[in-house]
Amino acid sequence: MKRRLAVLFVLIAVAGSIFYLNKFSTTDNHPILISGNTMGTSYHLKIVPTPDSLIDRQQLNAQITARLDDIDHKMSTYKTDSDLSRFNRQSAGNWVNISSETYFVIQAGQKISQLSDGAFDITVGKLVNLWGFGPTINATLVPDPATIQQLQSNIGYQKLELQEQPPALLKHSEQVYIDLSAIAKGYAVDAVTLVLEQNNIDNYMVEIGGEIRTHGHKNVNQPWIIGVESPVTTERAVQKVLHLGTAAMATSGDYRNYFEHEGKRFSHTIDPRNGYPIGHKLASVTVIADSCMEADALATALMVLGPERGMQFAEDNTIAAFMIIKQGNGFAERQSHAFAPFFQR
Ligand code: ADP
Ligand code: MG
Repeated sequence: MKRRLAVLFVLIAVAGSIFYLNKFSTTDNHPILISGNTMGTSYHLKIVPTPDSLIDRQQLNAQITARLDDIDHKMSTYKTDSDLSRFNRQSAGNWVNISSETYFVIQAGQKISQLSDGAFDITVGKLVNLWGFGPTINATLVPDPATIQQLQSNIGYQKLELQEQPPALLKHSEQVYIDLSAIAKGYAVDAVTLVLEQNNIDNYMVEIGGEIRTHGHKNVNQPWIIGVESPVTTERAVQKVLHLGTAAMATSGDYRNYFEHEGKRFSHTIDPRNGYPIGHKLASVTVIADSCMEADALATALMVLGPERGMQFAEDNTIAAFMIIKQGNGFAERQSHAFAPFFQR
């Protein structure tokens, strides 16, 4: 799974709880905090128990770790025996059986590829690797244009075929290499929230690598308040405070995972339509949706589409999107109509 530098949101959520502490009743139950590492990034959970809830922390911790390990073992390109790695090694024209869970995520990804006309594309893996953002090499060099062109013209979500029963995949081009980094973290957030629901936990925040899902409240009558990070590379600061309540949120940005060459920034988000890292003025996109998987993939799709086409896409599809756009030495903000209800009141 693609590495993403540590995340902000929880820090902000925790900081938020400090800022708002004086508003809480002193009889509130103490929140349970669970954290760890998965998919090359970190995760944080905050659970607010109700007075009658019986939570076995150790057991819950074990369940969450097992769930995340399971997903990582299926969907990582960093693990050689994952569904993805087995498929990525296979040559074109051969069906490869995969787990129904990986199938579910890939199918969701394909739908967002269709919706975004290929801006989101999980078959972009070889370009991600060529640009140095994959499992093996670190990003430093600009690849040869002929190689970029050759790969670009031989990838694409239409070159990937899915079979539902038994779940299997087939590639129509040798260059198809699946990378779920732009959707799997969101899916994992959804999966962890299911574990919590099975344990009758109602009030929680789950965050993996910056993708977040909240449910219920943070404390008595206090909704979950989450910060969107400012897209500056030098420090971590809050750009915007959101009332998330019960929802899922994901952010894609060009300000954490990138390299610079001759004064130009090359980000880990690749435009599958030309094979190059995105080159517009969009610094970050935050999407709020019902599922975190959807929010994650849509945020990446909008990041590729850029400020104008991306916002039009968000409006056309009633997507709640918030963009931070580079402007001179600072940033401008723009949001879709569906995003307005989440701004702090
Ligand atoms: P992050 O990993 O920072 O949360 P994203 O969700 O936007 O950010 O995922 C970016 C990752 O997805 C890249 O590192 C790469 O592995 C992969 N990727 C890059 N471009 C695309 C794209 N156009 N469609 C789908 N996945 C992509
Ligand atoms: Mg994403």
